[in-house]
Amino acid sequence: MTAIIITVGTELTEGRVLDTNTAFLAGSLEARGLRVILSLSVPDLRQQIGQAVNFALEKKSDLIVLAGGLGPTEDDLTASAVAAALGLELQLNREAESLVRQAVGATGPLEPHQAKQAVMPAGSRVIRPAGTAPGFILTVNHTVLAVLPGVPREIKAMWGDVLRSPQVAPVLSAVRPPARGRLSFYGVREAEVDQAVERILGKAQAALEVSICSRRGEVLLEVSSPGDFEDQIQALLKTLKEEFGLSVYSEGEEIETVVAARLTRAGATLAVGESCTGGMLGEAITRVAGSSAFFLGGVTAYSNDVKKSLLKVRQEILDNAGAVSKPVAQQLALGARSATGADYGAGITGVAGPSGGTAEKPVGLVYICVSSRSGDVVERFNFSGGRDDIREAAVTAALHMIHLKVTEDETPGG
Ligand code: AMP
Ligand code: MG
Repeated sequence: MTAIIITVGTELTEGRVLDTNTAFLAGSLEARGLRVILSLSVPDLRQQIGQAVNFALEKKSDLIVLAGGLGPTEDDLTASAVAAALGLELQLNREAESLVRQAVGATGPLEPHQAKQAVMPAGSRVIRPAGTAPGFILTVNHTVLAVLPGVPREIKAMWGDVLRSPQVAPVLSAVRPPARGRLSFYGVREAEVDQAVERILGKAQAALEVSICSRRGEVLLEVSSPGDFEDQIQALLKTLKEEFGLSVYSEGEEIETVVAARLTRAGATLAVGESCTGGMLGEAITRVAGSSAFFLGGVTAYSNDVKKSLLKVRQEILDNAGAVSKPVAQQLALGARSATGADYGAGITGVAGPSGGTAEKPVGLVYICVSSRSGDVVERFNFSGGRDDIREAAVTAALHMIHLKVTEDETPGG
């Protein structure tokens, strides 16, 4: 069973707004076992929306989800474009009208722009709005077409009703979630993982779908299969874990989630001293719900004065080694620890660019230290890319260093 996702909005095709709806919808459909064979975005133009719908219908997939352009404004054209493309009459839907009336709290007649949200192709089944725009579902030959507003919060709130609708529910009950396994690595190359998978699976690989991608030094492996290959997948993951040891940090969870679980389990606390990442490490850590169990806080020590006054970096070190140096990273970590009483301290200092680099200390040079009672670990990195890439890579590296340090400290005799 297959699905197609179409997102509508000129802000999407012009690149002003990142299309998060496709990621949400595709994730939900794939997890239920529906294969997304195509996703595309079109601007708020009647002809483009209509052509996209017809193009998608030609693929004869089981479900098409169309998101965006159901709002009250002139540029929201999806309902009329769909009606025109399918040769259906556009009409005021009484049920939708009453839902819009409720949503806007109208006592008298609806304003024309409000009433517009209740106008949909004849034969539509209405989906209750989460904002003011209802969605609708149509069946065209054997394809179910679900049309929803584009506001990400609204689409998420309405999605459950779509999945439970009499049109979509039978499609979902005809599929089952694929057997799936994930493994995340750090400090190894994509090709190493790829070769190991190929070697371990041998001929069995044909039955499985293997996807490997790398991101900021992390390698993410996903293996799935629509058939009964759960055992093979689990055996593969087990062998890879044995072969790659500490380079495997999770079964798909993000590193900040892994760090949070590790520190919480160890009953240990963490504080950070950040220069070039400006608080991004603290942000990544506090993204995890429950981080108050272990995260005490951080200092964004951007200027040398703050490095000195709040984290006790000595002037002498700044004079001799410079702000981007191993001893400063070390003191940022130590300073964060002693200022807060945390068990673990992390310090980051580097040249994020685009300016400020020298031959000796080029853009991308970052020192990271993790300090605990058992000692300090300091590493020097040369990250590539722009300012954002360098800062994100530094945060990822720091999280992995914290993870390794806590793991080491927790290992008996280690
Ligand atoms: P619409 O339903 O087309 O009026 O969209 C309303 C709001 O949702 C606008 O602020 C859009 O930028 C946003 N939006 C629409 N489609 C998407 C999408 N695919 N991903 C993220 N935001 C979106
Ligand atoms: Mg729009």
